Amino acid sequence: METLRKAQILCDSSQYDLCDSANHIKKSDANLPGIYHTTGLNGCKIPLFKILMTNKCVNDCKYCINQQDRNFTRIELTPEEIAKIFLHYYTNDYVNGLFLSSGISKNIDNTMEKIIDVAKLLRKDYGYNDYIHLKILPGASKDSIKRSMALGDRISINMEAATPDGLNEIASTKNFQKDIVRRFKWIQTLGKRNPKLAPSGITTQLIIGANNESDQEVLGSISSMYKKLGLKRSYFSAFSPVTGTALEKREKCDTQRTNQLYHADALINQYKFDTDELIFNKDGFLSLDEDPKYLAALNRDIFPLEVNQASFKELLRVPGIGLISARKIIDIRKKKRFNNLNQLKSIGVVVKRAEPFIKIEGTHQTALDSFKV
Ligand code: SF4
Repeated sequence: METLRKAQILCDSSQYDLCDSANHIKKSDANLPGIYHTTGLNGCKIPLFKILMTNKCVNDCKYCINQQDRNFTRIELTPEEIAKIFLHYYTNDYVNGLFLSSGISKNIDNTMEKIIDVAKLLRKDYGYNDYIHLKILPGASKDSIKRSMALGDRISINMEAATPDGLNEIASTKNFQKDIVRRFKWIQTLGKRNPKLAPSGITTQLIIGANNESDQEVLGSISSMYKKLGLKRSYFSAFSPVTGTALEKREKCDTQRTNQLYHADALINQYKFDTDELIFNKDGFLSLDEDPKYLAALNRDIFPLEVNQASFKELLRVPGIGLISARKIIDIRKKKRFNNLNQLKSIGVVVKRAEPFIKIEGTHQTALDSFKV
């Protein structure tokens, strides 16, 4: 099989791994496979080449197209082949970086070495200095993790589930504490000792709806990973049944559920909400319709807040006030007081949403019960 055809298959096989790319751009102008977009630190979209080393795998993850029991064409590219294909994309300006993952062809150590070999070839032999994101396989050795961190800008380990029981339900060969949490701890320690290792940090992915975990369990788990283990960002992949897998008859996850999880995740990761500030139904699920921040605000007794006195943390709890507008309010307040809604509007506050939750100079103009989302 020609190399480009193999690459097409391995790019398609990588589509379920979102760890650096929430949006899939189907085909570039060049009509080449594997071009996805990630969001950079300044919010701009960066095209990445995303591919697996191999779709062979010795594991039995029940949701995965590459799990060992499925009967389909298994292929593998060599590190040299991957490096050359990527450089073709890069030198022709189709992409600005590489996101490399893999199934486990023989064992974890052998596969990690191949992943590292690709990065080593690019960095040392071809003088490539741009973005590389490397997958760390659950159970990888500390030494291979350290070498991956030295070569990659970003690394990721897929948690896949929020709890040990949840992971056990969908992947019998992975141990949540040993293969995942312990690796996160190593990465955190290595990163603290040497901040130049994987400077863009570590991300993870959870498959949502492949087991019976609730949103509360998912958000509780990643909240703890952000606070205690230095996780940078989480991605939520909505489970979709794959023919020939143990979960082929399981119901597909509604993508509105993952949309709501992304909203709630932003509140936890960026706005520093505690999970217990969010509103879940009796089974631990977020509303599929209402904005999690709005629902949280309706259930707090701190409102209406005086805009001229509220702390930064309090301002971030107000629907319609984001990180940038909250910072602007704090800065402007040092020089002058706010006395009307237009001042807030001019700095980016969504006044219609914020109005029921704020007072300006002691005046609260809108009753909460008249507020319509
Ligand atoms: S380890 Fe599991 S999730 Fe990863 S490729 Fe193999 S079967 Fe799929």
